[in-house]
Amino acid sequence: MHCPFCGTNDTKVIDSRLVTEGDQVRRRRECITCGDRFTTFETAELVMPRIIKRDGAREPFNELKLRGGILRALENRPVETDETEAAINRIHHHLRSLGEREISSEFLGEYIMEELRNLDEVAYVRFASVYRRFEHVSEFQEAIDKLNTGRKVRKKPKGKKGSKL
Ligand SMILES: [Zn+2]
Repeated sequence: MHCPFCGTNDTKVIDSRLVTEGDQVRRRRECITCGDRFTTFETAELVMPRIIKRDGAREPFNELKLRGGILRALENRPVETDETEAAINRIHHHLRSLGEREISSEFLGEYIMEELRNLDEVAYVRFASVYRRFEHVSEFQEAIDKLNTGRKVRKKPKGKKGSKL
């Protein structure tokens, strides 16, 4: 960490403690060169990234939109609500843990497709067709082919309720 007074990049931590009930770390630092002291606060950045749309416009992450898209794809499909919720939670968790301020809608879409692929193949193809704006039958075939190549085997925990998140 650079010293804000003389700019040298060698400072040492002389005190470190948790503040605001452990959500923040307060560090007292001392510059090796000029001896001045300063304080830094460290917090985890767990905000949802903003979404960069195809036309370059930025919009806030929209929970209802995410959920709506997933539920539409899963309409009338034999997927348990618990599993759907777990998938949505994983997407949230993943987006937060990226630590990015903004991500492209393509990236988000690919990630949703990845989750749907593990939940239900029909829902995956449905979502992909809307998301990627399929115009030819061949594109459906490609999506179906992708199912058979990149599939992850995810064992369902039997007899367990709720997600592990
Ligand atoms: Zn200094």
